[in-house]
Amino acid sequence: MSVVAAHQASAARAAARPNFSGLRRVSGPNALTRGSDVSPALALPAASSVRGRASGRGSRSVVAMAGTGRFVVGGNWKCNGNTASIVKLVKELNAGDITADVEVICAPPMVYLPKVQSTLDRKYQLAAQNCWVGAGGAFTGEVAAEMLVDAGVPWVILGHSERRALCGESDEFVGKKTKYAIDTGLSVMACIGETLQEREAGATLDVCRRQLQAIVNEISTDDWAKVVIAYEPVWAIGTGKVATPEQAQEVHAGIRAFMASAVSPAVASAVRIQYGGSVNAGNCEELAKQEDIDGFLVGGASLVGADFVTICNAARFNN
Ligand code: PEP
Repeated sequence: MSVVAAHQASAARAAARPNFSGLRRVSGPNALTRGSDVSPALALPAASSVRGRASGRGSRSVVAMAGTGRFVVGGNWKCNGNTASIVKLVKELNAGDITADVEVICAPPMVYLPKVQSTLDRKYQLAAQNCWVGAGGAFTGEVAAEMLVDAGVPWVILGHSERRALCGESDEFVGKKTKYAIDTGLSVMACIGETLQEREAGATLDVCRRQLQAIVNEISTDDWAKVVIAYEPVWAIGTGKVATPEQAQEVHAGIRAFMASAVSPAVASAVRIQYGGSVNAGNCEELAKQEDIDGFLVGGASLVGADFVTICNAARFNN
């Protein structure tokens, strides 16, 4: 099935599912037992229960709030830019008016981190795009988590699909990196997501669960307070083929259900799940309205200051 056909099929499923509801903003003991409302492949574990949402927006009954609950947007600049373009981007970002409802984290290329750190407005935090799985040493070309902490960089992106696909990072390796980074003092945007082939095979949630399980295997329940999950369907990254809001919401709800059973309902409620994959200034509003979308991880559009500011401010629609 082509991506377009997959979008159409998903939209048809969503239309035939008027009672479909996410997990986060639903109050009551049955919040996570709505398996009949979602695709069979994404059905929820029967015994789980997440009540309310963690963000502080909207109604909620029980909240064990590990994270801040704020909408969280990451800008992944990837391996792009030079001194001139980065000076320009920082200027544009500094001029942007960012709503207080959002936490924003910019991830420049490693070599430009100090320059961006000294010039970017404090309304933005900083992330590295990767770090090593353990302490520093004879690991040519790598950067240790300790170095990031020492340099005042609070966040790191781990498990990006480009690193999984191009650098051979396994689920287990990403899990171990996540543990080491957290233990060293970093917060982590942990990326997961299926390829087009996996989506077409109906394995979307299996892949997400497998990738998450590798992290669950390594970190403690408390460690999840330092993790934001970035759901990034690989077929949507850098392709202009954004997941429909319904497709994204459905997977986010499935991820939250998995977290309830694999970790705890409290963590499932509190953990923030970003959507990533061709988010832009035009599609961010509808995505932000989805119940279980708690932010974005943005690639291409994070290199255009005005567009990225618009995307950050889509937090206003997340209520
Ligand atoms: C990314 O690389 O994390 C990403 C989501 O890229 P893009 O927004 O360009 O699809």
